[in-house]
This record gives sequence, C-alpha cells and structure tokens, in this order.
Amino acid sequence: MTEVAEALDKIWANINTIAASVARSRNSIKLIAVSKTFSVDSIYQAYCADQRVFGESYVQEAIPKINALSHLSNIEWHMIGPIQSNKAKSIAENFSWVHSVDRPKVAQLLSKFRPMSLPPLNVCIQVNISGELSKHGIDPKFDAVLELARAITLSSSTQLRGLMGIAAPDIDETHQRLQFSLLRKLFHQLKQHGYNIDTLSMGMSRDMKSAIIEGATILRIGTAIFGNRVSI
Ligand SMILES: *Cc1c(COP(=O)(O)O)cnc(C)c1O
Repeated sequence: MTEVAEALDKIWANINTIAASVARSRNSIKLIAVSKTFSVDSIYQAYCADQRVFGESYVQEAIPKINALSHLSNIEWHMIGPIQSNKAKSIAENFSWVHSVDRPKVAQLLSKFRPMSLPPLNVCIQVNISGELSKHGIDPKFDAVLELARAITLSSSTQLRGLMGIAAPDIDETHQRLQFSLLRKLFHQLKQHGYNIDTLSMGMSRDMKSAIIEGATILRIGTAIFGNRVSI
C-alpha cells in the first residue's frame, strides 16, 4: 500500500468518526484531494486508491497535469484558487468545477468560454468568511451573495452548486466553527430564496472536523493526503 493510499484510508476513517458523532452519513461528504504542487505520480497513486476528484489552485501548473492524466476514466478536476480573467478560458475548458468565483465578471467569462460540447460548469461562490483583508471571496453579506448567485444562474453553461469558504489559520475549534456556520447560514438563506444548491465547500487538513460538524459537503484536503508542500 502506498503512503498516499494509507493517508486516504486514515482520512476516511476520521471522516466516518466525525460524521457519525453528529449523525451525518459519510455519503453526504465528498473529498477533494488538493494536489497543487504535488506530482502527476502522487495524483496517480491517489487515483489507484480510488480517489477520483482532485483540486488545483494554479492554472499553469494544473493544465499539464490534467493532460498527463486525461486517459484515466472518471477523473474530475476542481479549480479552487483565485481566478484571473485572462485564465477564465483555460479554466472553462479544462475543469468540471470552479469553487472560487467571487465576481460577476469572472462568472460571465466562465460561461462565455465553457465549450458547448461539455456539461455546464459547476460553480461555487467564494465567500470571505475569515474577515482577513488579504483573503479572496466576496463579503459575507447576503445581498452580495444573492447578486452574484443571480449573475451565475443567468447562464445555462454554468450551474450554481453552492458556497465555498476558507477559515482563518486558527486551531481554535470554536473560532473555526463560527466561520463555517456563517457560510452555512448564507447557504440556507440562498436555498430559502429558491436556489437549488447542494454544496458547502469548506474544511481543509487543519479544520476538517469543524467543517464536518457545521455541514460541509465537500472537504478540500491536501497536506493530510500528500504530505507537506515544499512551495506554495
Ligand atoms: C491548498 C488549499 C487547500 C488544501 O489545504 P491543506 O492544508 O493542504 O489541506 C484547500 N483549499 C484551498 C482553497 C487551498 O488553496
């Protein structure tokens, strides 16, 4: 068994325990293996251990990896990093999901460049739940979220799936959960406004427990699967 396979086993055991403790089914949780900075070889090891969904943050780094592994069936790529307008075309052509849409302009470009031959691009709105000025994402105000949600649902080549958030790098569980619960509340408000969404993308290696407790449906885990990143 490879180290990556062992790490994935451990993470799923962890997810099961945490989910059971709050009466959630493990089937309600999807795991993205965040492979940024890691090699095609590491990704292949995870694939051999039944991992199918991978997350990347940098387009230039991701495209060669996506191409190198395009022969693998059912492999699914999620863009989770900040989006520059001039990369929108490449993202729309190469990914199934984008978690980091934080302005109407980006939503418009993604829908414009999504090839007709592909299914709609799955999109999450990134919300700045940490309050850190340097962090990407729109303000956690419902009006702002609603406006962007409207812009995304205008196009049939993008499909709004939910919200994404990154908590501050703080190991205090109470503080982590406060940030995730903010995202969950915005998610429920959107649903109350008639949006048919199913995704709360939150939780990384350091805070996945808090995220599961607060209702995460997608975890984005990198270092706990692949080990420490040498560079960012
Ligand atoms: C890198 C990254 C992750 C994974 O973080 P780890 O600490 O390696 O688990 C998750 N989400 C986003 C947006 C990231 O950039």
